Amino acid sequence: MKAKSGDFVLPGDELGVTEEFIPSEWTYEEEGKIKSLVVGTVSIDEKNKKISIVPKTGTPPVLEPGKVVVGEISDVRGQRASLKIDKIKDDERELVTSFMGGIHISQAQKGYLAKLTEAFRIGDLVQAKVTKVMGLDTVDLTTADEELGVLKAMCTKCRHFMEKRSNNEVVCPNCERRERRKLSVNYEG
Ligand SMILES: [Zn+2]
Repeated sequence: MKAKSGDFVLPGDELGVTEEFIPSEWTYEEEGKIKSLVVGTVSIDEKNKKISIVPKTGTPPVLEPGKVVVGEISDVRGQRASLKIDKIKDDERELVTSFMGGIHISQAQKGYLAKLTEAFRIGDLVQAKVTKVMGLDTVDLTTADEELGVLKAMCTKCRHFMEKRSNNEVVCPNCERRERRKLSVNYEG
């Protein structure tokens, strides 16, 4: 499908190909295809070969590089931790779709990290920054900056929230288990 200026589109609708156009505002690229991130109308700038969308409802909150998000770790596997994104920091509006974020081991902290499980565990509440929008519902994240990382750590043994012990260590008030994390300076507890 090839969109024309003024066409009404939904999230995920195909607009054109990257060989022909540059994906611009409220669009994303997937396997060479340009798609819409939001409900809105297509706007094509033929001179500069840019495709963008004019969102139907003003400007909905959409994830883009640089935005800081908060969510819960849903999986830690190999080189990648998955974050179920709940909201954009300091933005109470609901997201247009539910986003999943991925944190690669190289993006978890500054410096070497032997195992990703020494930075995150399932159930942790994490603050992270978007580095790349990979698709309609997938983004790449980093937690390297000091305000980014775990806000609340969940004990892997008894599921209690843990208390900060040092810059990279938390302790469980219930079972006294000690674990490592990539903690945010804003750690709550
Ligand atoms: Zn515990």
